[in-house]
Amino acid sequence: MNPFQFTRVTTPQAAISASTKESGTYFLAGGTNLIDLMKREVILPERLIDINKLPLTTIEKNVTGLRIGAMAKNSAVADHELVKTHFPLLSMALNAGASAQLRNMATVGGNLMQRTRCSYFYDHSMPCNKRGPVQAGPDKGKPNGPAGCGAIGGFNRMHAIFGASSKCIAVHPSDMCIALAALDATVNVSGPKGDRRIPFSEFHRLPGELPQKDNTLLPGELIMSVDLPTNRFADHSHYLKIRDRASYAFALVSVGVGLEMKRSDGSVHTIQDVRLAMGGVAHKPWRLFEAEQFLKGKEATEANFKQAATLAMKGAKSYGENDFKLTLAPNSIIDALKTATKTA
Ligand code: SF4
Repeated sequence: MNPFQFTRVTTPQAAISASTKESGTYFLAGGTNLIDLMKREVILPERLIDINKLPLTTIEKNVTGLRIGAMAKNSAVADHELVKTHFPLLSMALNAGASAQLRNMATVGGNLMQRTRCSYFYDHSMPCNKRGPVQAGPDKGKPNGPAGCGAIGGFNRMHAIFGASSKCIAVHPSDMCIALAALDATVNVSGPKGDRRIPFSEFHRLPGELPQKDNTLLPGELIMSVDLPTNRFADHSHYLKIRDRASYAFALVSVGVGLEMKRSDGSVHTIQDVRLAMGGVAHKPWRLFEAEQFLKGKEATEANFKQAATLAMKGAKSYGENDFKLTLAPNSIIDALKTATKTA
């Protein structure tokens, strides 16, 4: 274990000013991913700032919808009456993630910040570009394992089929973030240069030439809360997660759906509005904008769902062991849409 400084703060201002003093500083929330990364020496912090005492756990209505504090526990959000009633997709996605014990520890802000579970990333003997060219922290300058991407041409069953680069084909592991992407959330952050609001689609990034960087946060910025705008999807929401075992497993493919439906004549339903996002397929939560556009104003039929799934798969590319996702993903989209149509 490498030595590090430990500081506990009770206000966001103290957290931000402590984080800007030194590089190699990390905020510690629930620790459900960061502690693993430290144990495996993927991350070697110089300084940990414990933010568990920050007053950021409130979940409350505001004029535009719902605001969820960054330190709210995943289990508290999933079980909150306002979330279950008005944003059931978020509740379903949270309950599909990890285990009950982990959901009791993990926070909303931490969930946004979690790193990929690509096994090469956690193994210093294997090539991985995401670990970065050199070690951060006290061993600054020490090579951080071999460069390259072990997953390309290696074990890549869990890996991306959209938006990958020649540097990295990892996927974002969160379930919660798929729901937040579909629900058009906004991330409120505070930092040395002030406050800003980041649309959820711009919070996480694709790997490109810089796979070490998962998101668009600036140095010293702290996630304060997440806003969810009011919607009409509550009656027709579904989160479908396909995984290797029934619990405590990351998604091979997941689909978050919100539908606003109108009964036009007899038993035919027309889709007034729709949101679709996928997990387990890209370096960031993957929104299916083209499929959404196609479905708006269409009847909720299997033929239209198939057409939407075909549109959603445009540009997909697999890497060998994950070839099955090219079939699993569209089938999952169709299945999730069918289920969301029937709910209410
Ligand atoms: Fe590393 Fe990304 Fe390649 Fe995995 S996919 S080995 S995280 S560079």
